[in-house]
Amino acid sequence: MTRLEDASATLGNAPTDIPIVVAHGDGIGPEIMDAVLRILAAARAPLAPKEIAIGEEVYLRGVQSGIESESIDLLREVRTFLKAPITTPRGGGYKSLNVTTRKLLGLYANVRPCRAYHPYVASRHPDMDVIVVRENEEDTYAGIEHRQTAEVTQCLKLISRPGCERICRYAFDLAERANRRRVTCMVKDNIMKITDGLFREVFEETAKAYPDIEADSMIIDIGTARIADDPSQFDVVLLPNLYGDIVSDVTAQIAGSVGLAGSANIGDRVAMFEAIHGSAPDIAGKGIANPSGLLQAAVMMLAHLDLTEHATLVENAWLRTLEDGIVTGDVRSAADQHRVVGTKEFADAVIERLGEEPRNLRSVRYRHRQSHELPATAAESTRPVKRLAGVDVFLDWNEDGRDADRLATRLEAACPAGLSLQMITNRGVRVWPDGLPETFRTDHWRCRFVADGDLATVDADHALVVELLANVAKAGLDFIKTEHLCTFDGSPGWSAGQGQ
Ligand code: NAD
Repeated sequence: MTRLEDASATLGNAPTDIPIVVAHGDGIGPEIMDAVLRILAAARAPLAPKEIAIGEEVYLRGVQSGIESESIDLLREVRTFLKAPITTPRGGGYKSLNVTTRKLLGLYANVRPCRAYHPYVASRHPDMDVIVVRENEEDTYAGIEHRQTAEVTQCLKLISRPGCERICRYAFDLAERANRRRVTCMVKDNIMKITDGLFREVFEETAKAYPDIEADSMIIDIGTARIADDPSQFDVVLLPNLYGDIVSDVTAQIAGSVGLAGSANIGDRVAMFEAIHGSAPDIAGKGIANPSGLLQAAVMMLAHLDLTEHATLVENAWLRTLEDGIVTGDVRSAADQHRVVGTKEFADAVIERLGEEPRNLRSVRYRHRQSHELPATAAESTRPVKRLAGVDVFLDWNEDGRDADRLATRLEAACPAGLSLQMITNRGVRVWPDGLPETFRTDHWRCRFVADGDLATVDADHALVVELLANVAKAGLDFIKTEHLCTFDGSPGWSAGQGQ
């Protein structure tokens, strides 16, 4: 029995092969996909690939998203997608295939392992081995932006409890399956107490269901500084969308192995796995492309499908190949003796090493999915009692030398019985009552009206808000937006003004 047969014999066969969708993509895509599928077959991964066309050819047929709707239907049915890189044709009008797939299929988690393979691949952070998990659908990325006045624009940052619940669960599950010991959540909840505060609150609730995994939180600014300075302190890092976008690029870059990295986009139904790099048209067809990034993506896919033995087998063989100094031309190996090979030979070298473990690099061991007693989701738990306690009315106002006292006088005159003007802020800073002349004032004013009575229990009528707005309009003031001040089970669902 050869070493490969020996290794594969221990795997056992799944009763039926698991279907996956594969796309060979453009440029070097077909070469690296063939190499990866060959390695998966040699590892006897019980997979049944179904091919779809994506990318340049589809774009040039006039499909703006680069993927046919039949292919999307197949992805929805098969649920697992291994995708080679594509070329986006030059010229306008083409939509990003990744954004389309992510949005259509609800791929809410973006996962990027960033590992150094020192000394075999040069890295300034030799011990780095971080997995970045980024929430992929919410936050400022909903794209809800408005220009509200001549001077002021706004972008809505939306963070939902169900959105936090599924990304937090995913991060802890992943940590468990990838044999990790700690998940670190990074937010800015000292400033954004309600939105980032919710993310952190759900993180802490979820952590309780995973007592074997450490959980800690950091403020994003110091967290980013620390990860850039000494990434070896981190294990799994969990972030909301915007911070995750930035931090995942920083970590991928400082690992020194961007060209070898894979990434995953995970949804409740569908998951997509790909290399981080593009289609490299400059070396396409030459047989020299490195299949490692796509292979890393395929390993993530195997672990996601709970084919943990196959994932472990393939990744350890790949690590051993690196250690043996066998590399494609794009990698500058620091192994004592190294041999530069083409795509096919590299895949052969990995296949030859199936069943071997690395000697110096840390070997990997993926674990099977476990079940956990998780806190009830928002949909399952009882909804809080919501009451209307007031309203913030935003104005575009550029009169009277932007004197907040004068604005207050006009607003108090417009205020119906049952409501009182509590404060006015400009860019969040209180300018009435008792504003400071030093505070800079734009043409954008938030005017807070609160209902008379105990704010924890009062429940004002919406008609009062309508009456207020009608009076404000009659007074010649240009209201541009309102935000209701609601209590939830008696707790205020709004932030205080700065200086309040
Ligand atoms: P690229 O990642 O394709 O190439 C950058 C450089 O890295 C090139 O010199 C290339 O030869 C080299 N390189 C990349 N992958 C390699 C590999 N596996 N082995 C050896 N060398 C490799 O980035 P680019 O040149 O900016 O983009 C080329 C095309 O890829 C563009 O059309 C772009 O839109 C597309 N792209 C697609 C994806 C995707 O499908 N997910 C991601 C990024 C870029």
